[in-house]
Amino acid sequence: MADVIIVGAGPAGIFAALELVGKDPGLDIVMVEQGNDIHARTRSGKEMLIGWGGAGAYSDGKLTISTDVGGQLSSLISDEELMGLLEQVDAVYRSYSPGADLFCVGSDDALAIAAQSRLAGLVYVPTRVRHIGTENLLIMLERVRGELDSRVRMIFNTQVSEILTQGDAATGVVLSDGTVLHARRVIAAPGRVGSGWMSLQAKKLGLQTHPNPVDLGVRVELPAAVLEHLTSKAYETKFIHYSRTFDDKVRTFCMNPYGEVVIETLGDIVTVNGHSWANKRTENTNFAVLVSADFTEPFDDPIGYGESVARLANMLGKGVIVQRLGDLLGGRRTTEERLAKSATRPTLRQATPGDLSFCIPYRILTDIEEMLAGLDKVAPGVNAAHTLLYGIEVKFYSNRIRLGPDLQSQIRGLYVIGDGAGLTRGLIQASCSGIIAARAILAGG
Ligand SMILES: Cc1cc2nc3c(=O)[nH]c(=O)nc-3n(C[C@H](O)[C@H](O)[C@H](O)COP(=O)(O)OP(=O)(O)OC[C@H]3O[C@@H](n4cnc5c(N)ncnc54)[C@H](O)[C@@H]3O)c2cc1C
Repeated sequence: MADVIIVGAGPAGIFAALELVGKDPGLDIVMVEQGNDIHARTRSGKEMLIGWGGAGAYSDGKLTISTDVGGQLSSLISDEELMGLLEQVDAVYRSYSPGADLFCVGSDDALAIAAQSRLAGLVYVPTRVRHIGTENLLIMLERVRGELDSRVRMIFNTQVSEILTQGDAATGVVLSDGTVLHARRVIAAPGRVGSGWMSLQAKKLGLQTHPNPVDLGVRVELPAAVLEHLTSKAYETKFIHYSRTFDDKVRTFCMNPYGEVVIETLGDIVTVNGHSWANKRTENTNFAVLVSADFTEPFDDPIGYGESVARLANMLGKGVIVQRLGDLLGGRRTTEERLAKSATRPTLRQATPGDLSFCIPYRILTDIEEMLAGLDKVAPGVNAAHTLLYGIEVKFYSNRIRLGPDLQSQIRGLYVIGDGAGLTRGLIQASCSGIIAARAILAGG
């Protein structure tokens, strides 16, 4: 019988554990993680997303300190409360990575970028961003792991197969080896990688859920100099555009100055992502251009839709496809020969030169093309023939589970937090959600 069981050792689970042991060292806490401990992790294949640190371990370590970005916690708690939590979480990350830069565009610069964006039909979203960098984040995760070592019971390489309940209350979990662990408080923090598992548990337990839209698009890579005037001030510059043809919301996402494009494996699908190091630079900057796909009756499976589009790209490219923008607009495939002539040298070598127009739906492709044309007015060179597009990038968000402001589900004692709750989409809000659940438990919830 433990006091609290935490399922998943990503940022959400880790911050829940930190808050619990920090406030009540006497608690008996068990953390169960299906992947490896931090020192045994690798970034290859499925390993990239699972293990101590979760998907955060090889992420860029960009903390976007904004109530509007990276999750929907502001729909459950007040903006003031959330801002307090964001600052608290930022301070914890900072205490482990003291040199991490904070980028905050000054008001004159922000006004100038906003004015220029409006002329291009874009909305500029100013944000405060702290960049930790992948290597520093790994060091941080190792330190936190060391600190929690003697205070939390850790079980690695073991999946929680089932959440147990009696009546309307949580009573524990069953592990993949059949072991039953009892506790009256279970914090489920399974991340996006565990969203399928969480959906099954929600169904079994009768929890109300609501599908989130799926975000589809491409990862754009270009010479860092093209965006230097923006990234040197803001690090990540977020833009929104409502496309002329479809009136769809198109957005830039996850900008990685001097970073690299990487493959992300999600089950049997490979997609793309990006990150950057704190102390190592490539010559390129990458960012995603994403379009949200939401559906109405009778279709209610955005995740299935996103998977199908990704599978199509995988089928044609035997993995991720890369195409020069000039080839896409010119209606021809990028070949090895054409790619070799590209002024932008790809940082992801394992992508297959191909033709994205065969797999990205017309609507989404049109939205992306319009966005790139708009961005070119703010940063000339974005819409150049040698800009590289990798496809496809998909952001699956778990079904959103109905939760109270303390992140407790309809089952008493069962808290669902982080990306796996369909509630957060980034490191900082996922971490905040861990603190919210921990505080509710400490308060006797
Ligand atoms: C390449 C990349 C770059 C990124 N860059 C950024 C960035 O710069 N800034 C940012 O804010 N966000 C970034 N993200 C997103 C960020 O990593 C996630 O939003 C964050 O990690 C979510 O935290 P989480 O704890 O909810 O879930 P996760 O980090 O996904 O952790 C969930 C953990 O639970 C485990 N688990 C799942 N199911 C079970 C089960 N049944 N039993 C046991 N264990 C289970 C998983 O193995 C995993 O370790 C990036 C992601 C990737 C992949």
